[in-house]
Amino acid sequence: MKKEVKNMTIRELERPIVIGGPCAIESEEQALSVARKLKEMGVPIFRGMLWKPRSSKDSFQGIGLQGLSILERIKKETGMLITTEIVDREQIEETQGIVDFLWVGSNNMQNYELLKSLAKDSRLSILKRGRAATVKEWLDAADYIGKDKVILCERGIRTPVDSMRFTLDLNGALVAKHDHNMLVIGDPSHSAGRRDMVPYLARTIIAAGLDGIVIEVHDDPEQASCDARQQITPETFHQVLSDIRSIHGLLREERELRVA
Ligand code: PEP
Ligand code: MN
Repeated sequence: MKKEVKNMTIRELERPIVIGGPCAIESEEQALSVARKLKEMGVPIFRGMLWKPRSSKDSFQGIGLQGLSILERIKKETGMLITTEIVDREQIEETQGIVDFLWVGSNNMQNYELLKSLAKDSRLSILKRGRAATVKEWLDAADYIGKDKVILCERGIRTPVDSMRFTLDLNGALVAKHDHNMLVIGDPSHSAGRRDMVPYLARTIIAAGLDGIVIEVHDDPEQASCDARQQITPETFHQVLSDIRSIHGLLREERELRVA
């Protein structure tokens, strides 16, 4: 069964690139409810994670392949583009026709066999930065897939600074964007690790001129199966979206003024 996936080039993506959705798909009801609200807000890309590589084997590991039909339903009903994290080469084939963007999590940034397999797929990939990776290692990883079909995602790195879960390295993200001509988005959810800080980091990412954001959204964050402390409600997300659209618009106007 071949279904439709829009193959687009990286430069065709509307800016800012906005990706929203829960940390993990837990059930059809949970996923559809959030997806409908995000669609209503005009969010173009849904994060629908089926496989969750976790630090502890005892933590929720995701619902796996059986959740593909949920993504299919969301895609059909909302028309949103879908991204899901793949943790194994076989999932590249299994997600054909439903998943538009293949996502590589920070744990797999240096899983070179996985990256080589992604190079053979025509879809765009989102490559998260490993939590201890230098910018060069991140770019080298992107090169395995093919830099022209990769969106980099800065999700925070581990540093001696422990004020939040990770340190959002805007410096590194800006170097990747401006010195290496990459599309770079930011993940305020994982770098903050706490929901009250997510809106501030989201604004900062867009104010820095990065290409977009990915944010974890859940109807009932406290009850989420993973990353309960950092997911935000659709209502908060709506406010964040309005803020980042304003900031993005302002920057565009200023750029035009400077050029004129
Ligand atoms: C995620 O995006 O849900 C995730 C697990 O992030 P990371 O790979 O950056 O830890
Ligand atoms: Mn998460």
